Amino acid sequence: MAKAAHIVFARDKVANVVAASDFFAHNRPAFFCVACGKELRRNAPETGFPYFSHVDRTSCRLAAHYALRAAAQHVLMESRFIKVPIVGVAPATAGIQGLLVQWTDCIADIKVIHVPVDFVAETADGQLIIDISIPGLGRTAARERIAKLEVPALEVTLPDPTRVKGWADLRRCLLHSVDNKRWIYPFAKADTSASPLPAEQWHAPATTAGRAADARAPTSWTSPLAFADNAFFRQLRWADQLDVLQKQMGLPCGQWPSDVDIDVRGESAFGVDRRGWQADAFSHFVMRTATEPTAAEIAFSDVLKYLEERYWVEPNQEAAARKAVFYYLQALAGRGVLSPLIEDIEEPTYLVTHSGAAVADDELTWTAYAMLSASQLRVLSVQAGLRVPIDLVQELLESFDDCHPSVPVGLYVATLARKLHAPPGSVLAFLKDAGLVTDAPVSLPPSSQENLF
Ligand SMILES: [Zn+2]
Repeated sequence: MAKAAHIVFARDKVANVVAASDFFAHNRPAFFCVACGKELRRNAPETGFPYFSHVDRTSCRLAAHYALRAAAQHVLMESRFIKVPIVGVAPATAGIQGLLVQWTDCIADIKVIHVPVDFVAETADGQLIIDISIPGLGRTAARERIAKLEVPALEVTLPDPTRVKGWADLRRCLLHSVDNKRWIYPFAKADTSASPLPAEQWHAPATTAGRAADARAPTSWTSPLAFADNAFFRQLRWADQLDVLQKQMGLPCGQWPSDVDIDVRGESAFGVDRRGWQADAFSHFVMRTATEPTAAEIAFSDVLKYLEERYWVEPNQEAAARKAVFYYLQALAGRGVLSPLIEDIEEPTYLVTHSGAAVADDELTWTAYAMLSASQLRVLSVQAGLRVPIDLVQELLESFDDCHPSVPVGLYVATLARKLHAPPGSVLAFLKDAGLVTDAPVSLPPSSQENLF
């Protein structure tokens, strides 16, 4: 077999990572190099393992390395677990003493406080950065830079690409082996020598003695994943994006108000139906501030930035995207939802004048004998995209122990949304899914029922 590393992973037309050995690989029409993006051909020799090679025989020195890195990120994304060494255990015995870490949310290739990292997972015990090290491939970020983040970080060293023939090899060394992993910054849960952290600090990064003293409220800490949410949303399929948007709006798309279906110039710049990006901006900027005691300000540039992070805008569509957002906000002002605060053509700013909240508070009531179980809370909060800190779990369970909070639904939703840093629509969706809230039939203006997706 040739010494040069064979490329065993590639991207298909829709950017999925595939292996040359995949059963269905030979049915796929096209494969592309992860490193250079050029087309690859699948070769299946009579003896030996299938592999990819460049169609135009271009020299692409690190193609196998980059392909392995992309495949590793894909495996972490799909598997949602990794076996990690226990801190302070001698490598000789570490292999049998690994600890399994699982997560629900994760993202590849993301910057954590300006440091690019290969992978971040949100585990029940806080964030975990996974740094993928491949012999011969430069690092995504230096160990020292990652260590300085003070977020638990694990370095996984993969074998030379010549030694990984497909998914099985990769999964074994990436997920299950322990002796090829070491901590750049320790994970509190894997550190048996550390005293257990108080519950309030579960979501904070592992603490040094000095920092443990300044007991921070969990809500004051912003997860690195909060920055990643928009990038994550952008990677979702449209059906899943729509699901998120319906939760943000607190309504199925067929019942969205006409405020999120406004014909504006440049509306196709975000690559989705205008109702998609408009509902996104409307629920994120107008609805979430509707319950705040003081009128909220909305800056044009914030709305544009938010949408550009959440949708693919082609470089030649950037001007159109600016136009679309500008005219959309102007149109909302024309409808009395917003009122102009600073009429600067470059940086217009508006005030929310009309609640716009499609979730009218007085339409909603608590269920008579409201019950919320721990497992319901766990499953449904994840479904609604909520991250419930450990200290709020108990409070929530006690609030719905055959009873319901004494405040109106709307106020409770607004308060809980603030505590969770979540859109009220998501909180409401969660309460509805859990059967804690019922709504009286809402009569909708005819204009909002016309256009279904
Ligand atoms: Zn290439």
